[in-house]
Amino acid sequence: MDDCKKKCPRENPHQIAISQFERAADALGLDENLRARIRMPDRVLKVNFPVEMSDGRIENFTGWRTQHNNSRGPYKGGIRYHPDVDECEVAALATWMTWKCAVVNIPFGGAKGGVRCNPKKMSQRELERMTRRYTREILSIIGPDEDIPAPDVYTNAQVMAWIMDTYSELKGKREPGVVTGKPVALGGSEGREEATGRGCFFTIAEAAKHLKINLKCSKIAVQGFGNVGSVTARLLFEAGAKIIAVSDSSGAIFNINGFNMPNLIEYKSKTGSVMGFSECISEFCSKEDLLGAPCDILVPCALENSITKKNASRIQAKIIAEGANGPTTPEADKILNDKGIFVIPDILANAGGVVVSYYEWVQNRERFYWKEKEINKILEERMTESFEKVLKIHLDKKVDMRLAAYILGVGRVAEATRLLGLWP
Ligand code: NAD
Repeated sequence: MDDCKKKCPRENPHQIAISQFERAADALGLDENLRARIRMPDRVLKVNFPVEMSDGRIENFTGWRTQHNNSRGPYKGGIRYHPDVDECEVAALATWMTWKCAVVNIPFGGAKGGVRCNPKKMSQRELERMTRRYTREILSIIGPDEDIPAPDVYTNAQVMAWIMDTYSELKGKREPGVVTGKPVALGGSEGREEATGRGCFFTIAEAAKHLKINLKCSKIAVQGFGNVGSVTARLLFEAGAKIIAVSDSSGAIFNINGFNMPNLIEYKSKTGSVMGFSECISEFCSKEDLLGAPCDILVPCALENSITKKNASRIQAKIIAEGANGPTTPEADKILNDKGIFVIPDILANAGGVVVSYYEWVQNRERFYWKEKEINKILEERMTESFEKVLKIHLDKKVDMRLAAYILGVGRVAEATRLLGLWP
């Protein structure tokens, strides 16, 4: 982990996560002992394991489960399947989870998992076998009171069902609370699938209110049209905003009059891509161009390091809502701040998923299930309250919104760690 910087060819997300933490630690005046305790992950588990592919070949996969901090409760965090997953990315994502849970004040710590693979080129059976074997490899450190996985990029409710089933078979009892984001038929929560996008929408609505921007007259650009991006876009569309630009891994589309979201969502689910959608009036030259689209609100919902020093100055939006984890590098952050762009940081903007994951976990423990309406209502309350807390720090301390969120999140984790004391 210490030689992360040397190993990673790209802008290292874990180094970025550490630098964001140090900024908050400075602002909070944390002493070095406490910093050292909460800066690095508690545990990094790396696994190499074989899977039989459909053509009879045996392929070896590498995966990780990284647990950052559990001072405030069991570790919690998604599992990513992607060809570029590595140890540094998983460590960064685990670290951000810790602060995120604390910002929205839910009793979990941070963790993350990942398997380096290309799920788009794997059959369902191959994905299932890989998921079950990966679950076996990390079995000793997960559990409803220890560490609770959830979906992330290119994993979904079905993958969570396989993890839950594998865990339950190996433990000899059905244990729905070992993962969240499960299908509702298996103890998943109503509202969980849409929760991250819905939470992101609530924070955008609050930011627009604060900045006196009328959502109904707003133009929106959304980068990444998966779970988070498509739900956020649909809710903004329902609120009257115009979604003028959308991208996914295959390219970007544009229509200054706005796309019809239900039509685009249906098109993407049928074809697997936004490209070729009939309402598109011009295809961008590249996905990069979407970031500079003439919009009021930019919602990055793809991967880390999308907004960098190379493209930040081209951004025209007044608000950036980070649906993705870590989409903005610290150098880009400075440029955005200088331009006066209001950034709703990832650890606040995309926290709706883990909030409803928490509700799912509570329902699993109680074996008593709530209605979607109730869940959406308490999600809205939690997101609005958290936004207000972060905004207050931003205004009182005259710091940017990211630092404000970190002051709240890191401050809560530091307080819990201090109160726990040191054993032995
Ligand atoms: P997803 O797999 O459903 O969607 C990812 C989308 O990003 C896809 O449409 C993909 O085509 C697109 N994409 C990938 N590379 C791209 C590129 N270079 N340019 C444009 N689009 C690109 O994943 P998701 O669950 O929506 O997650 C998206 C982001 O949100 C990730 O950063 C994830 O960590 C974060 N997040 C997800 C959740 C959740 O509950 N799913 C919760 C919190 C944060």
